[in-house]
Amino acid sequence: MPANPLLRPIDTLLDYAAIRPEHIAPAITQLLAQARDAITGAADPAPGLRWETLMPPIQAASNRLWRAWSAVSHLNAVVNTPALRDAYNACLPQITEFSTWAGMHPGLYACYQALHAQGDTHNATQQRVLTLALRNMRLSGVALPPEGRARYAALSEQQAQLAQKFSENVLDTIDRWFLLVTDEAQLDGLPPDVRQAARAAAEKDGQPGYKLTLHMPCYLPVMQYANDRHLRETLYRAYGTIASEQGDTALDNSPLIEQLLALRAEEAALLGYAHFADLRLQTRMAQSATQVQTFLRDLASKAKPPAQRDLARLRAFATTLGIAGLQPWDIAWVTEKLRQQQYAYSEDEVRHYFTAPQVLQGLFDVIHTLFDVTLHPEPASLWHPDAQMLRVADAQGQTLGHLILDLYARPGKQSGAWVDSERVRHRLHNVLLTPVVMLTCNFPNAQDGFPACLTHDDVITLFHESGHALHALLSTQEEPALSPFASVEWDAIELPSQFMENFCWDWHVVQKLSRHRDSGAHLPRALFDKMLAARHFQSGMHLVRQIEFALFDMLIHTQDTRPDMTQVQNILHQVRAEVAVIIPPAWHRFAHNFSHIFAGGYGAGYYSYLWAEVYSADTFAAFEEAAQGASVLHAASGQRFRDAILAPGGSRPMRDAFYTFRGREVSMDALLRHNGLH
Ligand SMILES: [Zn+2]
Repeated sequence: MPANPLLRPIDTLLDYAAIRPEHIAPAITQLLAQARDAITGAADPAPGLRWETLMPPIQAASNRLWRAWSAVSHLNAVVNTPALRDAYNACLPQITEFSTWAGMHPGLYACYQALHAQGDTHNATQQRVLTLALRNMRLSGVALPPEGRARYAALSEQQAQLAQKFSENVLDTIDRWFLLVTDEAQLDGLPPDVRQAARAAAEKDGQPGYKLTLHMPCYLPVMQYANDRHLRETLYRAYGTIASEQGDTALDNSPLIEQLLALRAEEAALLGYAHFADLRLQTRMAQSATQVQTFLRDLASKAKPPAQRDLARLRAFATTLGIAGLQPWDIAWVTEKLRQQQYAYSEDEVRHYFTAPQVLQGLFDVIHTLFDVTLHPEPASLWHPDAQMLRVADAQGQTLGHLILDLYARPGKQSGAWVDSERVRHRLHNVLLTPVVMLTCNFPNAQDGFPACLTHDDVITLFHESGHALHALLSTQEEPALSPFASVEWDAIELPSQFMENFCWDWHVVQKLSRHRDSGAHLPRALFDKMLAARHFQSGMHLVRQIEFALFDMLIHTQDTRPDMTQVQNILHQVRAEVAVIIPPAWHRFAHNFSHIFAGGYGAGYYSYLWAEVYSADTFAAFEEAAQGASVLHAASGQRFRDAILAPGGSRPMRDAFYTFRGREVSMDALLRHNGLH
């Protein structure tokens, strides 16, 4: 049998195409055993303990384990098959158990304490690593008595399994649901490429007609363009009840939500915190749940009046289209019509200018101008022909890392856009390992000989994710514990990503990004001016929606008693009454599909997007000030941003990094201005 591809040396790139489900269990079992042995062997707090005897062996073994597991998790998310899912799930309990074991290893904790006590013998980087390790281990229950540690371990394992099942229920409900439309008249209004994709999907199943699904490249255009109100309602209802008690009970997330909230509350109590939000905020920029709620309500007070105006305008316009009682499934459709009337362009028109190859080239140019790094396509063995490997090089041509782009939607791929990494920057025994970062989106793929076309929102998504990727790629930290995804505060992690979005609104940048799929022309100035005019269209409504999600998340995680599903729904209703302007029907089940907080690590952390946006907006304002009306692609500011914000990774608090960059504390002004709210 050939060597297991998951066991390749850490300083070589993985051969993704060679990884089979049957490789997973043997590799993970072996790497787990090695990581366990490394900790057991090195964690001896005897006199003579030194950094050099403790850290390198543990790091070397951990690197290999986490690289393999990250690759497996990634494959499970982007090329999901029953066999892969089974192999992943079979290993998940062992992985969680190991993390818990290592996170509360008394010998390791004693070693970190002993090293920490040696003080000045370590440099600032090493001291930061030790401080964070001690904090993280305390939060992992190491200081608990034995029975508390056992309970903590059980809680962690159950939560991981519930979170995994939560996202599977969502994915399966979406994958299984479809609507076969045989009467083409029902698709009136839908763009031809969406129809063709629906036709192709039906054909693939050997069916006549058009297959509509809840996957974003189908669901969104239906909500936005389908003139058939009943069709929109049908898809809206299906989407709004995903993984709820109104569908297949085997895929109902209700009991999972109740169990997750109960387990989280118990975990917080065990570690001595009033509630789960308090526990989570230990590793955040924000100081307390109260501070977060005040922040959100403050923002709501500024955003709700404009949101109400947005909605009133929409209602009034809807009546001119013959819609008297505006329903949630009309919002996107009426919005698109209003946008067309108000700003005389359609997203579909814009989309044909943003051809994927040109957008990517433009993005690479932006990155080059701002940060003086270049991206070079490189052959690689990956998981799908659509995935593409790029080598990231500095001005001298030195490799800083690798970026894998996987941009298009397909069956078996988790929806949404995100960045994860398989390997982080790490100097070990004088060998520098460079990061391998994966950037994943779900854009509609190329069809009919045309390149893939992105909406302007898609372009913004791509820039957003590139900010996360750059954070990982341009950090100069050589300790894995200080890599951005390991130790930058959760509520600051969106700073670089939201910052990058701003460039999609700069005329010079948009020129670089656009090339019409038919004519090859750049986006015309007149069309861009309309987009600019439309930029703040409904930004009040958009903002209150984000506040609604964030406040709901914060409130369900700060309850004195453990809420059941009815109470969770009640909290959602109260939050909506307080901050929202659009109230979905009573049967709508938002929480059941809120994977961010129940399956994605954003529990008691959804506010982070808004929190970080205050910082990212203020950061971008520095570029606007430096540009003085010229292009915001201001190289000197880019360099300062790279040095102050990206390079430090988790080596210091983001508050300090931001202060270094801006020379003052943060201000909310830029956020309000960028949203057209003052
Ligand atoms: Zn993000």
